[in-house]
Amino acid sequence: MSRALLSHILHRPPLLASRSGVRGGALPSRLCALRLNCSAAEATASADEAPAPPARKKRVVSGVQPTGMVHLGNYLGAIKNWVALQDLYETFFFIVDLHAITLPYDAPELSKATRSTAAIYLACGIDSSKASIFVQSHVRAHIELMWLLSSSTPIGWLNKMIQFKEKSRKAGNENVGVALLTYPVLMASDILLYQSDLVPVGEDQTQHLELTREISERVNNLYGGRKWKKLGGRGGSLFKVPEALIPPAGARVMSLTDGLSKMSKSAPSDLSRINLLDPKDVIVNKIKRCKTDSLPGLEFDNPERPECKNLLSVYQIITGKTKEEVVSECQDMNWGTFKVTLTDALIDHLQPIQVRYEEIMSDPGYLDNVLLNGAGKASEIADATLNNVYQAMGFLRR
Ligand code: ATP
Ligand code: MG
Repeated sequence: MSRALLSHILHRPPLLASRSGVRGGALPSRLCALRLNCSAAEATASADEAPAPPARKKRVVSGVQPTGMVHLGNYLGAIKNWVALQDLYETFFFIVDLHAITLPYDAPELSKATRSTAAIYLACGIDSSKASIFVQSHVRAHIELMWLLSSSTPIGWLNKMIQFKEKSRKAGNENVGVALLTYPVLMASDILLYQSDLVPVGEDQTQHLELTREISERVNNLYGGRKWKKLGGRGGSLFKVPEALIPPAGARVMSLTDGLSKMSKSAPSDLSRINLLDPKDVIVNKIKRCKTDSLPGLEFDNPERPECKNLLSVYQIITGKTKEEVVSECQDMNWGTFKVTLTDALIDHLQPIQVRYEEIMSDPGYLDNVLLNGAGKASEIADATLNNVYQAMGFLRR
């Protein structure tokens, strides 16, 4: 696709259902609001003065799985960055519970982990008056669109996914659920439903975003444009082709027990990560025991010292200092002194988040309300996209 065409698609207004409205019959309030705004603008504009189309903020979507505990990598690589994004973009942050069942999981824990992850989003500073916060499974369109997209996704594209190869090898091929192969299509659905312009992606997710772009272009070509118009639709693209939003450098946090592997919820040892809700004494113990080396002083850029680079980077991000400031403060420290400095900084940074988390969890009605409103806003947009796709694919609508 040409750059010009891509840029045209990226700047289109949101696609809205053009025929039968949203399932359930009610005209979504957002559509009503758009129409009311139009008539007010038409009434006040003079005949030769066309009102400028309202500028729409670019849309960003992202989520974390409610598996295990949210850790420092999820926070510094994803959630903390979302706090800045919510002021610049129209943001949708969800808890991707449907992805949490792709590997064996603990059913009684799923809903608890989902609530806890939502509370962590809020405690970290995601503001429900700016961002839509919701649970993925509360917006049915995610699964419906996934099915529609899967009919246009070649199996070969999924077989190539690195995470599928790695995770299925670990789990033993015969025992792996089909969902482990097909979840990237659900991820595509998560993104495309919202006509997202930008998707924050860590290195571990770039292949998934590329797949999403390929699926969106394929479905746009197969069913969009004139073919869709002939079926009574608006024509044009069904989906915006999303772009990656690259996180700030240094936001990839490595394991405390191996500076070459990423910190991860699914790593077997809890000593490999700092969880956001770890109490003080646990943080003290984990940093005390984390892997270091025997070289003198501390430095960022020695490839032989991945643990040193990781711990200095964590210290830099949580204190908000520059790299130069951290170098001059820490280069002559020994590990013992630096570990105490880092531990104190971690505790100072995480403690207010933990206090807010407890407050939010002690008011379940508040959390329910945030998730209900978030799912409501998300459903309006998701249902409009889904309706367009059903129409373009030729389904008989109610
Ligand atoms: P799992 O091991 O189960 O895949 P995870 O720790 O990778 O869990 P996810 O829920 O898959 O967590 O990822 C949520 C978000 O956190 C994604 O945006 C991902 O890129 C980011 N993320 C995960 N681990 C790290 C890390 N170590 N450093 C920076 N970002 C991370
Ligand atoms: Mg992951």
